[in-house]
Amino acid sequence: MHIQPNAELKAYNTFGLSARAGGLLKILHTGDVHEVVSSGLHPLRILGGGSNILLKGDVEGYVLKNEIKGISIVDENDNNVLVEVGAGEVWHQFVLWAISKNLGGLENLALIPGTVGAAPIQNIGAYGVEQESVFHSLKAIDLTDGNEMIFGKDQCRFGYRDSIFKHELKNRCFIVSVSYLLYKKNYTVNTSYGAISEVLKSKDVHNPGIDHVADAVIEIRRSKLPDPELIGNAGSFFKNPVISVAQYKLLKELHPDIPCYSAGEGLVKVPAGWLIERAGYKGIQKGNVGVHKNQALVLVNYGQGTGQEVWQLALEVMAEVQNRFGIQIEPEVNVW
Ligand code: FAD
Ligand code: NAP
Repeated sequence: MHIQPNAELKAYNTFGLSARAGGLLKILHTGDVHEVVSSGLHPLRILGGGSNILLKGDVEGYVLKNEIKGISIVDENDNNVLVEVGAGEVWHQFVLWAISKNLGGLENLALIPGTVGAAPIQNIGAYGVEQESVFHSLKAIDLTDGNEMIFGKDQCRFGYRDSIFKHELKNRCFIVSVSYLLYKKNYTVNTSYGAISEVLKSKDVHNPGIDHVADAVIEIRRSKLPDPELIGNAGSFFKNPVISVAQYKLLKELHPDIPCYSAGEGLVKVPAGWLIERAGYKGIQKGNVGVHKNQALVLVNYGQGTGQEVWQLALEVMAEVQNRFGIQIEPEVNVW
């Protein structure tokens, strides 16, 4: 077990923020996790690709950088394939692997940064699909006692950008592999999201396959979202708030163009990006950090920003949205 003491984490988070951890350990196999538990090191944090964290300051204790690899087909029938994936695999590489084998279910989730092990944490979603739609189960190790556990879909309590791993089991379970049930046959691609159908139409694709949908998603994402290699960010900083239809109707009287999407009976989802833009924050810069000029949901680090600067800006945006619309928006990113 190699511990890198007083480790700089700048290269390990897509915001590109500088912070130090008491120690950094690379985890290549499940045995490494057991060794960490038996050694009694604590406190422990689990790190994947660092694309959904904000490092507010230095991290107390030890950061376990997950690099457990491997993709294997563990079962198969006429319609489906069950695939077990090492939690340290890069999510987009796994999506490309599935597309290369013409397996359906992941194509709308192409180009999401990060690792497979982090996908169930916030039940990653994009373009009308969430990972739970093809999730089968996951294997995890309890960091308090080293017990190995298997979680089925119901036990994960997936919600909108949410799961049990953001609540009771936060920082407690090290996910070592995730299994997905992908489609070989009898599968219909999901093109319900407006932007996808527009791209397909513009290319005269009338009967899209999974590769067409993945290509459309990749094209849209490349054209709209800031690349963390060029400008530090962690994707959507805030979740879209879900409010009652009654509250929405009152807001619509004051703001006739406020958009919404259905979110179950009596509830609607309001795009947080719209609220932030209307609060006057789209494209603003405060010191070394700011709100992205094309996408108000994304906070950015212009290069020399600190975690404290990003956090102060986030607090200011949340307070202003509350003040103007009476809606409490919450961070989607994990604040360390
Ligand atoms: P990290 O940031 O390393 O960790 C995130 C959280 O998961 C932390 O709390 C960490 O402790 C925990 N964690 C990580 N690995 C494990 C593990 N093996 N076991 C237990 N806990 C673990 N998200 C979406 O949902 N949809 C999108 O479309 C989307 N687009 C994005 C676009 C950009 C440009 C960026 C920068 C981010 C985007 N995100 C999106 C957010 C991010 O990609 C996802 O949340 C992703 O799943 C994070 O993976 P990660 O490996 O980087 O996790
Ligand atoms: P967009 O297409 O400009 O849409 C803005 C918001 O409206 C999105 O957040 C989306 O909610 C909602 N929306 C739009 N069309 C919808 C529909 N037909 N049904 C339900 N909700 C709809 O968004 P964008 O920023 O370019 O992102 C595109 C997709 O990638 C979204 O699904 C978004 O969640 C995902 N994404 C996520 C992150 C992240 O870090 N979490 C970063 C980038 C992109 P939803 O977010 O609920 O889909």
